[in-house]
Amino acid sequence: MRVVQQHTEERSFQSVRYIRITDDTPTHSRGTVIFPDAVDREGHIFTVWGFPRIKRIYVFKRGIQRYFKDAPFVAEEKIDGYNVRLVSVQGRLLALTRGGFVCPYTTEWAETWAEEMGLQEFFQDYPDYVLCGEAIGASPYNVQRIYDVPPGLHFRLFDIADYRGRLMPPEQKYLLAAQYGIPTVPQLGRFDVGQLAALRDILLEINARGGEGVVLKSLDGTRLVKYVTPLSDLTDIQDNLGVLFDVNSGYFTNRLLRVALFVQEFGLDPEVYAQHIGQAILAGFSPLQDFHQAAEEYTILVRNITTWHALRALVSDRVRVEEVYTRPVVLNRRPYIQVGFKRVFQKSTKRFRTLLKGYGHYD
Ligand code: ATP
Repeated sequence: MRVVQQHTEERSFQSVRYIRITDDTPTHSRGTVIFPDAVDREGHIFTVWGFPRIKRIYVFKRGIQRYFKDAPFVAEEKIDGYNVRLVSVQGRLLALTRGGFVCPYTTEWAETWAEEMGLQEFFQDYPDYVLCGEAIGASPYNVQRIYDVPPGLHFRLFDIADYRGRLMPPEQKYLLAAQYGIPTVPQLGRFDVGQLAALRDILLEINARGGEGVVLKSLDGTRLVKYVTPLSDLTDIQDNLGVLFDVNSGYFTNRLLRVALFVQEFGLDPEVYAQHIGQAILAGFSPLQDFHQAAEEYTILVRNITTWHALRALVSDRVRVEEVYTRPVVLNRRPYIQVGFKRVFQKSTKRFRTLLKGYGHYD
């Protein structure tokens, strides 16, 4: 890795060179990736623009009125995995993370995805387009909601971007996804402000089954907002209390605000939610009863052990990674290596250890 100039670094993945934009700049968003040895259809250096940030609305009805007015929009389920951009560069299918790294693990899985869906055919027809989606299942990056998917890592398309970073109108994207056999996030349909009752029922159903929420998109693909469910916010709270000191303090209060606003606006039973909130907090702190370290456990499946080593090097940049085991397994009649590892959060480990030993602390 080489720092080329401020906010950029040059890296390579196998034989492919790339420049990663590490922070937002006036011209490029964080996570933009430039491939200096490839060109787009206009002959310019191939740039994969950072996936846009999506504004969150905190209140359902007024939020939708504010952002879509009388215009129709589509609703998609927001699924909880990690953001992946699939691209084809110098004849290679590569998977980019939100932060702009070529991910060795997702790239290896993308080869398997290409056997199941028409990714190669898509990139033959649209070589400088970008398939943006969520990777769900055996994630090495975040603890996720559990979806009913087979073992392994799975791709769900949610946007197609062109070489200028513009997102395709959603309904055109659904047609292309169907044409190339690429699975998408659940499509919930087209709505407008007059049909909020139907969308409200869908949200309640997503909430009841522990789903994350919805992303609403204007028909021209330029306007996106997200809205999440209270049980999903409470799951986040529960999952992150054990690493409390490594998470920014607004993480918890912002989610509590969202839960309260949803309960008020949707007229949910406050007694029931008081219980859910209390349970999430107590369950989130339950690891303190027999505390060893603040860590998250992951299980992933790789085809080659070198993929794990490359992934480990990438993830270890930010947090301490401990390998727990590697074992051979067979999946879809193919040999894989299952890797169990932990991400250890040092600040939380240290703080919880000292306070559980009885040491005092000035607030
Ligand atoms: P930000 O939007 O500010 O980048 P974030 O990185 O914290 O927020 P989230 O709050 O999880 O991410 O919400 C945005 C992410 O949701 C997207 O980057 C994408 O990975 C994911 N996502 C899941 N389902 C969809 C969908 N249907 N449409 C768009 N994004 C989706």
